[in-house]
Formats: sequence, C-alpha cells, structure tokens
Amino acid sequence: MVLNVIIFGAPGSGKGTQSVYIAEKYGLEHLSTGDLLRAEQKTQSELGRLISSYTDQGNLVPDELIIDMLAKVLDTKKNENGYIFDGFPRTTAQAEALKEMLAERGIKVSIMIDLEVAEEELIDRLLKRGITSGRSDDNYETIQKRIQVYHTKTAPVLDYYKKEGLATEIKGTGSLQEIFNRITAAIELVQ
Ligand code: AMP
Repeated sequence: MVLNVIIFGAPGSGKGTQSVYIAEKYGLEHLSTGDLLRAEQKTQSELGRLISSYTDQGNLVPDELIIDMLAKVLDTKKNENGYIFDGFPRTTAQAEALKEMLAERGIKVSIMIDLEVAEEELIDRLLKRGITSGRSDDNYETIQKRIQVYHTKTAPVLDYYKKEGLATEIKGTGSLQEIFNRITAAIELVQ
C-alpha cells in the first residue's frame, strides 16, 4: 500500500517532529524542504546564500526554486512505500506543482494532515527551540514574520486540500504520543 502524506501547519506546529515518527512507522521517505534548504545553506554555495537572503528574513524562497529542488529529490530518493512531505507545499502554486509532479510519476497525495496549534503556543515553542536549534530564523522578530507569512501565503493551501477532499485537521497540542495517535488514526482511515 502506497502512502503519500503531506504534513501541514504553522511554524512550530510540530511537523518535523511528527514526520520522523510517521516516516518510521510507515516506512516513508521524509522530505523536509526546510532541511533541504538548510543543507544547501551549509555548503556556502551561491545558491545557499541566495536561500539565506529569504529564510533569514522569514520570507518564503521563490516557488520555482523550491519546486525544482523537490522534483530532483523525488527522483534521487525513490521510495515505493511513499513519502511524507514536510514544509511543502507552502503556497497554492506549490500545491498545483506537487500534484503535477506526482502525476508524472504515477502517484498522488493520500492525506493532508493539518496540525492545529494556537499562536501563543507556536511562539513559545519556537522561542524555546531557538535556544538550542542554532537556527538564524528562530528569534522573536523572524518568528513573528514567519507566522504572518504563514497566514497570508500558506494558509490558503489548507483550503486547496479541503476542496480536494484530502485535508484532516488534527489537534496539535498534548503529549507527542497523543498527537501521534491522532495522526495514525487519521492515516488508518485512508489506508
Ligand atoms: P521550515 O524548516 O519548514 O520551518 O522552513 C524554514 C524556512 O525555509 C522557511 O521559513 C522558508 O523561508 C523556507 N522554506 C521551507 N520550505 C519552503 C517552501 N515549501 N517554500 C518556500 N520556502 C520554504
């Protein structure tokens, strides 16, 4: 059974943490666009510097850049069990591109999981993470900007998947195990 999951939510909603558990349980390839971008930034390449000029300000990198990057990774990291897309799509243009990209490879999205967390808790979590993450975008000012960008550019992606009949809203607070149980219960329904 092939399973392709999109994990969605605001910055700090727990996408990365839960993705690791989901990938492990279902044998999925975890594709995090944030991780891909940070790996490129570490190489100090020209592309890495271009990426930093967006991410350091809390802005999204351009659609074309991220779509190209993801398409390449899809082909180098083939996985017959499926994928978990973490941090992508973040705009409706990316959602359209993903649909096309997957169709070209004969696959499709099985479920979109939206992790719901109140804004105060998001800020709290990201500030705490900032103490240890070393991420240049985990500071108060950039966190505010990222949440604002989430509302204006990314939130419409939820409506896109609601229209497709693929979105499931999950309460993203409580213990990690409780949240994981809610997610797996939703996945079992589409498997
Ligand atoms: P994340 O690790 O998912 O929080 O992503 C960190 C940063 O990388 C974001 O604030 C964006 O600047 C950038 N980024 C990650 N994924 C995307 C995406 N799908 N589209 C545009 N920018 C992205």
